[in-house]
Amino acid sequence: MKKRIVVKVGTHVLSEQNRLCKERMMNLVEFLSKLMDKYEVILVSSAAVVAGYSKLKLDKNQLHNRQAMAAIGQPHLIAAYSKKLEKFGKIAAQLLLTSDDFDSRKRTHHAKCTINTLLENNILPIINENDATATEELVFGDNDQLSARAAYYFDAGILILLSDIDGYYDKDPKKNPNTTIKKIVHNIEKCELNVDEESSYEFATGGIVTKLKAADYLLKRDIDMFIASGFDLKDIEGYMLRNEHLGGTLFTSKDF
Ligand code: ADP
Repeated sequence: MKKRIVVKVGTHVLSEQNRLCKERMMNLVEFLSKLMDKYEVILVSSAAVVAGYSKLKLDKNQLHNRQAMAAIGQPHLIAAYSKKLEKFGKIAAQLLLTSDDFDSRKRTHHAKCTINTLLENNILPIINENDATATEELVFGDNDQLSARAAYYFDAGILILLSDIDGYYDKDPKKNPNTTIKKIVHNIEKCELNVDEESSYEFATGGIVTKLKAADYLLKRDIDMFIASGFDLKDIEGYMLRNEHLGGTLFTSKDF
């Protein structure tokens, strides 16, 4: 049986100058296609707002405008994935979920049955927050929390966060010249979750703290998490396809 994995890609990775970045998306889809041959893959994708912004430029500081742009952008985002996946003979499916769906056993069960059937048929489920009815990830998170819940409730062994940063460092590398990457992390200290940190990108709302919260949630449930660059996929390709851990940060409760 194939191991199940969740891959989450942030807005920053998927966009460039207020629009979807076709080249990075193509590289991502090629990588996902390779992963799908070895694993059962679920994708959590942000970037609906930026995809909508290239169609209708509303003031993105207003939440209701971001919700409207997500509604405009979501079908374009899925169409872009579908078109690229077609080149590799793969098909995409869309699931719009909210954290409330995971609070209801019945709704989680229905979503899981859908996911299981899609994966049995080698389809790529692409999850995003339903931004019209929920604003949690739109306000704070950029799908980091949603992807952690998806990993747990849909029985994945690992969550891969593809970010604008290639791992978790002892200090923010964009603000400090001398930083060291943490290759393996076994637990998250409380103080690490209290850092006042914002996303480095105007369309994204994550930052490192939402990723550490996701890691903390998963470590407590014995599920691994890996932060790697979504700009250059060589580290995550090495880890997932060749079992080489050269770059990126692995969060794991297991001792080797
Ligand atoms: P994404 O759009 O991929 O979700 P974000 O831009 O929201 O990513 O968050 C990642 C950013 O967090 C990095 O670009 C980096 O500037 C910042 N950051 C702050 N502290 C750290 C740290 N200790 N290690 C890595 N990144 C950090």
